[in-house]
Amino acid sequence: MAEFRAPPGTHDVLPPESSRWERLVALFARRAGRAGYALVVSPVFEELAVFSRVGEETDVVRKEMYDFLDKGGRRLALRPEGTASVVRAFVQHRPLVPFKAWYAAPSFRYERPQAGRYRQHHQLGVEVLGTEDPELDVEVVTLAWATCRDIGLGGVILLLNSLGDDACRPAYLQTLTAYLAERGDELCDAHRERAAVNPLRVLDCKREPCTNATADAPRLLDHLCEPCRDHFGRVTAGLAALDVPFALAPRLVRGLDYYTRTTFELQSTALDAAQNALGGGGRYGRLVEALGGPATPGIGFGLGVERILLAADHEGVFAAPASTVAVWVVDTTGGAEATALAHLLREAGISCDRSFDGRSMRAQMKSADRAGARLAVIVGPSEVAAGTVTLKDLATGEQEEIGREDVAKLVEERLR
Ligand SMILES: [Zn+2]
Ligand SMILES: [Zn+2]
Repeated sequence: MAEFRAPPGTHDVLPPESSRWERLVALFARRAGRAGYALVVSPVFEELAVFSRVGEETDVVRKEMYDFLDKGGRRLALRPEGTASVVRAFVQHRPLVPFKAWYAAPSFRYERPQAGRYRQHHQLGVEVLGTEDPELDVEVVTLAWATCRDIGLGGVILLLNSLGDDACRPAYLQTLTAYLAERGDELCDAHRERAAVNPLRVLDCKREPCTNATADAPRLLDHLCEPCRDHFGRVTAGLAALDVPFALAPRLVRGLDYYTRTTFELQSTALDAAQNALGGGGRYGRLVEALGGPATPGIGFGLGVERILLAADHEGVFAAPASTVAVWVVDTTGGAEATALAHLLREAGISCDRSFDGRSMRAQMKSADRAGARLAVIVGPSEVAAGTVTLKDLATGEQEEIGREDVAKLVEERLR
């Protein structure tokens, strides 16, 4: 018989690691919810065109799309990132603006599996559609930054840039293209040919030939038009007023083509440079139109769950909890008492578990220990006869016999 494994580039998330995921998603959901963002669940696959209209020139669309033909002959693709799906849903349903959405969903890229790069990874993100107000940029960037802080990450750098707009970017691109044309031979292999197609991407290139050749390249931040400069000034002032630390990053263009104006990325100083991006995002102007809707500005970000947890590991924060339940019910009378007591405690809102299969007292206590329970509720024949249970503190070994009717109340008190 064949031995099945998770497909290349995918991984299972099992306990106790999965409990960290749960907590991370819950923290993010709470923080987003407090700011008026509501959950949007969109399909994991869309028509290929939904994604290809978003970023014709990006690697993820040109080379890494996880696309396929379904049995009806439709060309579909698994979502490579969150924004396009949310924008497609916005165009289809036309909710009131500003439309503030958050999501937690898997993303897919068909690429060579390697350390820290997955064919399926998971993202937490938000999108807001319908306003160009720079105060919203401040809110969105702060939400991403504060999420990293929530889980205790200390070494997070917020990089901020403006990519300008249709008024100022074309002229800058000409300037940059002319600059790069003079240094064509010095660029890396990947960019020698493609520099003219997407000159901004050369600035983002991490390979030495490109970083050397562009060391003194003209900066978009110096070529912004008046409205873009004002917008960016409001964003930086807003972040400063909220004590959100950031660094200007004139080379930051991010991987996707649709960004305009504010662009940002969160990097972890605890991770290797090759995979230190925790996530990022920015403002986009033409995306709603590209998917068939009316001109509507938007902004959003995506944070990589795997990356954030990897950074947490490197920093030694946000560990998986050592215990799965607070209470273990130990029953030496056959198991039905454990069913009744566990139900009673769970109904009272107390986390508890019990053993099955009529295990020995010793084996049940061992399970309690392995689960990291703080208390054991023990019931044997004498307790049943007396209408009591024995409550044992598993740290101190202290135990007391209490009336069965008081068990939920007393357990709650001891756990406090
Ligand atoms: Zn390059
Ligand atoms: Zn501009």
